[in-house]
Amino acid sequence: MSALLELRDVEARYGPVQALRGVSLEVPEGAIVAVLGANGAGKTTTLRAVSGTVRRSGEILFAGKPLHGGPEATAKLGIAHVPEGRGTFVDLTVTENLRIGAYTRRDRGLRADIERMAGYFPWIHERGGQRAGTLSGGEQQMLALARALMSRPRLLMLDEPSLGLAPLVVREIFRLVRELNEKEGLAVLVVEQDARIALETAASAYVLEVGRVAVSGASADLREDEVVRRSYLGY
Ligand code: ATP
Repeated sequence: MSALLELRDVEARYGPVQALRGVSLEVPEGAIVAVLGANGAGKTTTLRAVSGTVRRSGEILFAGKPLHGGPEATAKLGIAHVPEGRGTFVDLTVTENLRIGAYTRRDRGLRADIERMAGYFPWIHERGGQRAGTLSGGEQQMLALARALMSRPRLLMLDEPSLGLAPLVVREIFRLVRELNEKEGLAVLVVEQDARIALETAASAYVLEVGRVAVSGASADLREDEVVRRSYLGY
């Protein structure tokens, strides 16, 4: 399979802080890929480098073409980014949040897409008029997912979807990610602290350490890797 997204030797900095020191990774078309690592390793910055919200150098290719632009340009190309903390508009309703998710599209058919999302997240029907801020944490994460999908992306980037959620809710979120991947052929790049669920969900993973890829490979192999097990899986 060819790579949908490819990072070659990407560096990024925040003023004097060099957050990425030459990261190379690939997301094949239609695959789920995880980025793991300790706090401050550069996981969030890797996603921000792709969506153009941090100054970066090196090469980033999307569908074989160099990616240069900022967040709006990358969104238009088909990359949806769900940031850590979800970025839900808490004062707007569920339906309004979904409509905002489709802002890069010119076509009509929003109603059909909201229906499509309700197929994955049935509560959207009953709660369409409810303020997003009154949803549970898990529902807000699902809404953030649904909102990102309203742009009909080819690549979904998720930053720590498990953050602050109970284990059962985390399982449900990852189950939905897998379902979306299988049914829609959606490629997913997911940053996750919870290495166990990430390695169960993703086909392959990259472990970052101080801005560099320390280990990478098929998830099944990483689960057998002594260092990964001890450092990230705790057994
Ligand atoms: P976490 O799980 O804590 O979010 P992470 O692996 O996502 O960690 P990043 O957020 O990408 O790590 O941070 C990488 C490095 O860049 C860290 O040293 C961090 O302190 C630094 N950094 C991140 N954001 C900024 C910023 N806005 N200004 C300055 N330094 C930053």
